[in-house]
Amino acid sequence: MTRRSIAASGAAAIAALAASLPLGAQQGSDAGVSRPASVQPSKFTRAPMIQAPPSGEVEILPVRGHVYALFGAGANIVVSVGSDGVLLVDAGRAEMSDKVLAAVQRLQREWVVRNEPPSSGFGAETRSSVADRHITAPPKPIRYVIDTSADADHVGGNEKLRNAGHTFTGGNVTGNIADATEGAAILAHENVLSRLSRGTTVAQAEGQTPVPADALPTDAYFVDFYKLSHYFNGEGIQLFHIPKAHTDGDSIVQFRGSDVIALGDLMSTGSYPVIDVAKGGTINGVLDGLNRVLDMSIAEFRLEGGTLMVPGHGRLVDSADVAYYRDMLTIVRDRVEDLIKKGRTLEQVKAANPSGDYDTEYGSTTGPWTTANFIEAVYKTLGGVRLKPDTTGGRLKPDTTGGKPAAPAKRR
Ligand SMILES: [Zn+2]
Repeated sequence: MTRRSIAASGAAAIAALAASLPLGAQQGSDAGVSRPASVQPSKFTRAPMIQAPPSGEVEILPVRGHVYALFGAGANIVVSVGSDGVLLVDAGRAEMSDKVLAAVQRLQREWVVRNEPPSSGFGAETRSSVADRHITAPPKPIRYVIDTSADADHVGGNEKLRNAGHTFTGGNVTGNIADATEGAAILAHENVLSRLSRGTTVAQAEGQTPVPADALPTDAYFVDFYKLSHYFNGEGIQLFHIPKAHTDGDSIVQFRGSDVIALGDLMSTGSYPVIDVAKGGTINGVLDGLNRVLDMSIAEFRLEGGTLMVPGHGRLVDSADVAYYRDMLTIVRDRVEDLIKKGRTLEQVKAANPSGDYDTEYGSTTGPWTTANFIEAVYKTLGGVRLKPDTTGGRLKPDTTGGKPAAPAKRR
């Protein structure tokens, strides 16, 4: 039975997914199916942009190579699927875990079918060819989950995905592992671990849902970056800490061979970035992070294509999108900074509408992150809160009674 007849005889879902993959991704497995050279896309063909999936559904988008994006489960999830197993960047919301798991399993099965060893197509005196054509390897397990921040829509699925996975041990500890049910490893910056592990009382006091032990990061890093010590699915995977951006524990994740970067909440294509001031976020940290991403990425032509990036929320982006977002934020930052220097209060800054020309694209007057929230976060993290009214001149003067003066904003 050939792959085509297997698909025809029942694995319809798998066939449908395989058909949705970019042609390049199918080439290795479709031996014998020839395509005219003229329709073969280059390896660098840009993945298509998407519309939001229907609510409650998880949509799979092949990004490039072994890397896929899952949309619709809360934060966007980036998945690497291949011979070494599965790695996920972010886990989505808790209530979406089953659908995320189903999507991952679908990708796992599809990978197995695509990478089935070719059958010789004949038997011999000492063996039958039947087994060749019916044995497929079991799907490779989830090995790693990476949390780009401690937000509930990024870590909510940790527990279920971890428990569906597996951590391999080697060397002289293999025989000593008593807990054979240990699941996948969860990687994050240590500020994510400390935030998630503060205990039930603190979490409830802050209005957060306490996190079960199985959902906590198993491996936390505290330096500038962390990397998997070996290739995973044929490429190096590296985490970079982006300090004081969305929060104080943000990571971005680079897939070095596929040339894909998961941005976490450093960027959201449909809104201003969420700057969580209470958790150490700042506007200049976001800008430094976006500039860093632009340093790491290489466009295919002018600023388009090339390195592909998956923001925490919204659609797939390339360097042009990130540069535009960076420029927009720089302009708004500079306007607010200018108003602060002129001694304006927060209310006056809001009234001056420093983001007005971008509000149709990124602004919001309702929901958890409004334009007013954003302007307030920018104002506060630029040092605006350290100003107090000067009763003599009606302007504001730096408050020298407490706190250091605002650090000069970094510019690039
Ligand atoms: Zn988020």
